[in-house]
Amino acid sequence: MNQYDVTVIGSGPGGYVAAIRCAQLGLKTAIIEKYPTLGGTCLNVGCIPSKALLDSTEHYHNAHTTFKEHGIELSDLQINMNQLIDRKNGVVKANVDGISFLMKKNKIDVLQGVGSFVDKNHIKITPTGGGEEQQIETKNVIIATGSKPTVLPFIQQDKQRIITSTEALNIREVPKHMIVIGGGVIGLEMASVYARLGAKVSVIEFMDSLIPTMDRALGKELKRILGKIGIEFFLSHKVTGATREGETVTVTATNPKGEEVKFEGDYCLVAVGRVPYTQGLNLEAAGVQMEERGRIKVDEHLQTSVPGIYAIGDVIRGAMLAHKAEEEGVYVAETIVGQKPHINYLLIPGVVYTWPEVAGVGYTEEQLKETGRAYKVGSFPFRASGRARASMDLDGFVKVLADKQTDEILGMHMIGPRIADLIAEGVTAMEFRASAEDVARMSHAHPTYAEAVKEACLAATENRAIHM
Ligand code: FAD
Repeated sequence: MNQYDVTVIGSGPGGYVAAIRCAQLGLKTAIIEKYPTLGGTCLNVGCIPSKALLDSTEHYHNAHTTFKEHGIELSDLQINMNQLIDRKNGVVKANVDGISFLMKKNKIDVLQGVGSFVDKNHIKITPTGGGEEQQIETKNVIIATGSKPTVLPFIQQDKQRIITSTEALNIREVPKHMIVIGGGVIGLEMASVYARLGAKVSVIEFMDSLIPTMDRALGKELKRILGKIGIEFFLSHKVTGATREGETVTVTATNPKGEEVKFEGDYCLVAVGRVPYTQGLNLEAAGVQMEERGRIKVDEHLQTSVPGIYAIGDVIRGAMLAHKAEEEGVYVAETIVGQKPHINYLLIPGVVYTWPEVAGVGYTEEQLKETGRAYKVGSFPFRASGRARASMDLDGFVKVLADKQTDEILGMHMIGPRIADLIAEGVTAMEFRASAEDVARMSHAHPTYAEAVKEACLAATENRAIHM
């Protein structure tokens, strides 16, 4: 029987990063994945394919809208959905192949099949495509089995017309009317993809705002901007059912007045969140305890109720984000070898890859109000940025929240061009506990979108933005 120092179950961004860090630290490592390709939700049916589609459709949308103003005139513009989806598949393949390469490079054994506990130190691997079961012995286990889409019990998803994000990434036609249940990150990204392709898109959201866990100013601005590409929003609507007849899908909901409203379309995407995935792990055999909402219970060191068994990523508490899972993977690997790593969960940024992009890190204004912390706000609109004017990306703003007395940055929230990359400046500043004035006094290349961060920090410092 093969023996390992560490066995990782699940090869998503949590699992594969944990495995690489374990191998770097000299631990004999195995990774178990039930699917034939590595990379988990993120690489196969999440972050990467959705961004590939967002990029393609943004080009198409611009070709229809802003190109003319740039002086580029096109005629007979066509969308080739097969090519669009094939390119996306190619991007996914290149990425998942990259992970296989990294496993080889780091001498990590990849075991294909469903991993389940026999006991705390023995894992059984059952190949999904048939074939012989095997068992391995391991000193430590890292559970990184991720999540799956939340199912609404009163909606039967046939995965053809009433679909999850996985199927929404593979539609080879432009829907006539896509009804999206859920105004969160995944719902809005996919809504953008299809609206840009020319589909009518209706987003139905239970809460009274979009992306409600982010700073409220962002959701408000995003709703206004996405409205301009034709997405219709139905906030404070409670979906009560969805049925399919032939190619028609009917969604029923209760509006804020308590009346029943009906939506008819050809696709309904259910994007109401994700739930931890632990099916098939046989956690009882190892004695691993669960907590509420199907999550695996972990302590502050990400160790489960059983010493030597850890859990990371979507399967435990916290934001369901790839980069959060990655940080936890590194954290656990270093903990296993006796190091003292650290994760600052406040500084895990949240991002939405619509256009404009949305990102936030640190405390939201609502959280500061709730805790009674004295703060000041500085913001800067992209319409005052020369760089944004050059690229015709005038929507959005950067908003900086700083402590009223000390000027320490407490939160940065932005909506605008390429701010998914820009939020890293907020993370860096906050990780080093910078004041708004610290950032305001740093040189930012001109012309860049990043100047908006400097200007917002200037505004927060003493209301002394230069270009506003
Ligand atoms: P996963 O990536 O879910 O990987 C878990 C793996 O474990 C899977 O491959 C699964 O097959 C395997 N597995 C499960 N059980 C077993 C078992 N018993 N034996 C063997 N293998 C098993 N996050 C971002 O940060 N940025 C984004 O832009 C982003 N976009 C997204 C877009 C979409 C459409 C979706 C659905 C998600 C997106 N996410 C994004 C979320 C991100 O994908 C997840 O947070 C991330 O994948 C979680 O990583 P993980 O390692 O915890 O689990």
